Amino acid sequence: MRTAILYSEKLREYDLGHVLSGDRYGAFMKVFREKLGDHPAFQVVEPPTATHQDLMMVHQEEYIRRVERCESRDPDTPLNPGVIRSTKLMAGAGKLAGELVHSGKYQKAAVIGGGVQHAGRHYEKGFGVFSDVGLCGENLMQNYGVEKILILDFDAHAGDGIYQIFAKDPRVLFISLHQDTRTLYPGPSYQNPMGEGEGLGYSLNIPLPPRTGDEAYGYVLDHLISPLAREFQPEIILMVDGSDPHFIDRITQMGVTLQGLYMIGARVRQIAREVTEGRVVSFNGSGYDPRGILFPLGWLASICGLAGIEISLEEPYPLPPDLHSDKGLERTRKIVEEIRKKYAPYWKCLADS
Ligand SMILES: [Zn+2]
Repeated sequence: MRTAILYSEKLREYDLGHVLSGDRYGAFMKVFREKLGDHPAFQVVEPPTATHQDLMMVHQEEYIRRVERCESRDPDTPLNPGVIRSTKLMAGAGKLAGELVHSGKYQKAAVIGGGVQHAGRHYEKGFGVFSDVGLCGENLMQNYGVEKILILDFDAHAGDGIYQIFAKDPRVLFISLHQDTRTLYPGPSYQNPMGEGEGLGYSLNIPLPPRTGDEAYGYVLDHLISPLAREFQPEIILMVDGSDPHFIDRITQMGVTLQGLYMIGARVRQIAREVTEGRVVSFNGSGYDPRGILFPLGWLASICGLAGIEISLEEPYPLPPDLHSDKGLERTRKIVEEIRKKYAPYWKCLADS
């Protein structure tokens, strides 16, 4: 079954004048077409702009109005009319992607440029304004009767905004693998919270040490994510992937390779086959490479892994010597053990072993 690629040329307006430049999305589509041509497994779909009513499913009215006046309170996230138009477009893409997959029209959908991680219900933060992941999930729950959603966030940064949006909601299991926030944005004030109120136990934050590589990610997928997905039985998986856990990324320090990004997509595909009849929406937006080479390949690796399409992926940069073995693996095993103990009261699969 086909995968929808949600992409619009208008996304170029999502240009914050720093590492997040507006030419990223077109650059991805160029590589996508070079490598895959008109592959029958994929279909490009033009997303709609989210309406005020749509945004209200996630965000507070006062906040939406402030954004529309271009009043930014976060220096990383400057606002102008173009940025606002494009962030509404991205939110609209998240909403439509969920609908396309839920209806069965497509088994999977990839939102190009998406994966807003740090913006919350009433604030912009860390390059994000309106939450595409939040709108995708809220729309499915409010309008389509979906009762269980699994969010897997593989971005190197902790998804503190996605956490804020769903922290109290036990219908959403949020699992974030990220570089330890004592060493990376959003910083140590984000202390790997477990959820709040009825949502307690439904947020798992897994902090990994810098330079953690492919093997360790595979270990977390096998020992935490797969058993939790089987127990939770979500109807759909929302996956934040992108390229910034890659070792060349200029603003993070993780150790994943292109093959690793493909592997993560492929393992999520397996999990989805088992528990959601294959339904996954992926959001592909991160990756900051001085030469602009890595992130299109990273998004492609992840999307092809998820769609089950074989592709030759030559690493564009040599593997640094310190990554020839995954030094983060041993530490990751210990972290997984700690998480199992911490969450054993909430999850049978974690209490059993
Ligand atoms: Zn990131």
